[in-house]
Amino acid sequence: MRACLGAKTQQLISRVFIHPVGRSAAVRWRGAQSRLFCSPSTDEKPQPSMLRHLTSKIKSTGPVTVAEYMREVLTNPVTGYYVKNNMLGPEGDFITSPEISQIFGELVGVWILSEWMGAGQPKQLQLVELGPGKGSLASDVLRVFGQLRSVLGGASVSLHLVEVSPALSRLQAQNLTGDSSQEADAEDEPVYRSGETAAGLPVSWYRRLDDVPTGFSIFVAHEFFDALPIHKFQRTEKGWREVMVDIDPDKEDQLRFVVAPSPTLSSSTLVQADESRSHVEVCAEGGVIVQQLARRIAEDGGAALIADYGHDGTKTDTFRGFKGHQLHDVLSSPGSADLTADVDFSFLRRMAESDVACLGPVTQRTFLKNMGIDSRMQVLLRNCSDPSTRKQLISSYDMLTNPSKMGERFHFFSLLHHSRLAKPKKVEGLTLEKRSPAPLPVAGFTKLKFS
Ligand code: SAH
Repeated sequence: MRACLGAKTQQLISRVFIHPVGRSAAVRWRGAQSRLFCSPSTDEKPQPSMLRHLTSKIKSTGPVTVAEYMREVLTNPVTGYYVKNNMLGPEGDFITSPEISQIFGELVGVWILSEWMGAGQPKQLQLVELGPGKGSLASDVLRVFGQLRSVLGGASVSLHLVEVSPALSRLQAQNLTGDSSQEADAEDEPVYRSGETAAGLPVSWYRRLDDVPTGFSIFVAHEFFDALPIHKFQRTEKGWREVMVDIDPDKEDQLRFVVAPSPTLSSSTLVQADESRSHVEVCAEGGVIVQQLARRIAEDGGAALIADYGHDGTKTDTFRGFKGHQLHDVLSSPGSADLTADVDFSFLRRMAESDVACLGPVTQRTFLKNMGIDSRMQVLLRNCSDPSTRKQLISSYDMLTNPSKMGERFHFFSLLHHSRLAKPKKVEGLTLEKRSPAPLPVAGFTKLKFS
């Protein structure tokens, strides 16, 4: 059975036709470094509206938590970084794996189909992406669905995008539905935009995961959890204290970090009792979202694939800014740069594991190799004679899988319905199998085997 399902996934992979078109990789990705306090660069123009907003808030109610700072800077509905900018790609602030090569999204598409098959091929398949960026990953996944239409049979597929940024949602709509999408009439509609792909699949946009309809769903979150607000805590002689953002008393238009003099609600509740590090970052919002995913999967069936840079509860200061493919001081010119922190996968697991089975994290290199990226590359290179396209294919492959590039910095983590890993029941009366059969393998997390 194990070998059999592996071979099915392998067949899916070999049936996906990947056009040998590389995407530009000559730019920086933001999982790269982790450095907390970069010195502010002097030649940048401040973003007066966001800075003014934050300083007046701090003047009236006191220092803000790092989580509040991050939330305001990234997702403030008027001046937030994600709300205003198109930050992805060579002209933006950072590059991500789906933008580097379409092979990435295509292998994720195969993973989704493989999990849909592992769940018994339900008639409805909701593909839900959190933080879809330019929509490239969803577009590559849907192309795989189109190529494997015969596998999907009569299943009804719909795409649901959770996106806080109106600007990015317009870009996603353009990429996925051309000119067919429409904005909702009222501002508070849960579905704020909807459209249809060229193949006729319905696409809907939501601001929050809560608004996505229930039902069998496969969730994908690529570089989404790292953008969610983190709290920062410092161990002191008096116990754990929360790190806050305050106005620098020497410079009115500059912010600085301070440590709260007394415990806050967060410092009393979010740090583990047996924590051994002296500085920790906790993404409470990420914990809530992963719990929502776990509950939905437990109740309605499905799976989630979370891919991001991160650690297993071992790192300390990872909060950093990115602007124009360079590290950027997190407190300088707020709103003009991306803010990010490594994902703590051990925390996500702790929040989810009572409802679902958790697999990983495994490195991006392991996941992509287990998904068959090497054999895909061989086929592509064999069919490609143009030297510059070959060069681009090889450099994209290297960027995605090289341990010193994205290969070991990025990790894949999965939530699965418990039944997915349950050992298949022995058929009464048959004695062919001596040992109890093994659970079905999960593509990407297990090496594919041929039967
Ligand atoms: N997944 C894409 C984009 C990553 S950037 C890729 O890998 O290329 C982060 C994405 O998450 C952006 O689309 C951003 O607008 C979105 N985002 C950030 N915070 C969000 C939030 N709180 N709710 C919904 N979307 C959010």
